[in-house]
Amino acid sequence: MPGPQEPTGQALSRETLAVVAGRPDRTPDAPLNQPLVQASVFHAGGDIEYGRHGNPTWSAFETAIGALEGGHGLVFPSGLAAVGAIVSLVPADAVVVVPRHAYLGTLGQLGVAAGRTGLTLRQVDVADTDQVVAACDGADLVLIESPTNPALEVADLPAVCAAGRAAGALVAVDNTFATPFGQNPLALGADVVMHSATKFLAGHSDAVLGAVVCTDEDLRDRMKEHRRLSGTAAGVLETWLALRGMRTLHLRLERAAANAAVLAPRLAAHPACKRVRYPGLPDDPGRARAAAQMRTFGAILSVEFADGPTAEAFCAATKLWVNATSLGAVESTLERRRRWAGESPSIPEGLVRLSTGVEEAEDLWADLDQALNSLG
Ligand SMILES: *Cc1c(COP(=O)(O)O)cnc(C)c1O
Repeated sequence: MPGPQEPTGQALSRETLAVVAGRPDRTPDAPLNQPLVQASVFHAGGDIEYGRHGNPTWSAFETAIGALEGGHGLVFPSGLAAVGAIVSLVPADAVVVVPRHAYLGTLGQLGVAAGRTGLTLRQVDVADTDQVVAACDGADLVLIESPTNPALEVADLPAVCAAGRAAGALVAVDNTFATPFGQNPLALGADVVMHSATKFLAGHSDAVLGAVVCTDEDLRDRMKEHRRLSGTAAGVLETWLALRGMRTLHLRLERAAANAAVLAPRLAAHPACKRVRYPGLPDDPGRARAAAQMRTFGAILSVEFADGPTAEAFCAATKLWVNATSLGAVESTLERRRRWAGESPSIPEGLVRLSTGVEEAEDLWADLDQALNSLG
């Protein structure tokens, strides 16, 4: 039996694929798990030869993320290296449509390119479909995030992907927040999907990694060649850790999203919170869209306080929640986003982004409640 079989001939569910995809062949004494192949050089005459070209542990991770997103996966050393691979597909003076509230590192990388190579950035409100569609005219690349980091705006992905492709642009979607269990942008019309695997895929705050997935083999080959020549070779240990993390992604996300669903309305009802952004709240502007295109409302929410100092005091007052950047891990984390100089000035000073982990909901609430009540 070479690999995991479909017992009844029907396609395996995504949850099952998370467990079985990218495993070694089922031959006697073969390991059940893909081993960590810590090697820079391979015997000549094969497909790999050198550690910047490939690695068996990379291939296992790529098979797994490819199975979850429905395409060919490629691993990169970080989410931003994956963004770089996507940008390498368009000319240096390309016109690029991006969310005004995209991840700050993505905007930073594109901003540097705009200064150096004449790349043009068109920043849009992803929730305003007419605005995004208009910006697609003459664009080379449409790089959308949904939900956005940290504003939690939801784009109409089928409409935006169709408009980008109709305009002749390459359409890429950063699926870091939703994860492959939340939505599959390739099925919604995107050409490329990317992940900061640092976040939910790896999920344990111990590895920095990125990935892209696409269905077109030519795009895959071009990004693979970019990886080889730009030297953006992923660490083998990080790749192995992310693959291990992905085996439980659906379970972690289920609990983390259930926690977010419990906490969001309680936060919204607290007088210290001016506004809670979470697509799962009944009155959230992204609710209907998220319900139409996502399988879960996810595990990230943002809370707005009156001002920056109040938000900082709140973050400092938590005892269980960790005041730290990043998201998508087993432990709940929170941070005031405007503490970063690169964060968009249209993100409120008092906005705190929360990433719910897999702890028990009442423990998480008790900590938030005492931190809220400590605010003057
Ligand atoms: C963190 C993040 C990135 C960047 O990923 P790194 O792994 O930190 O390079 C890109 N997009 C989103 C939405 C992120 O949250």
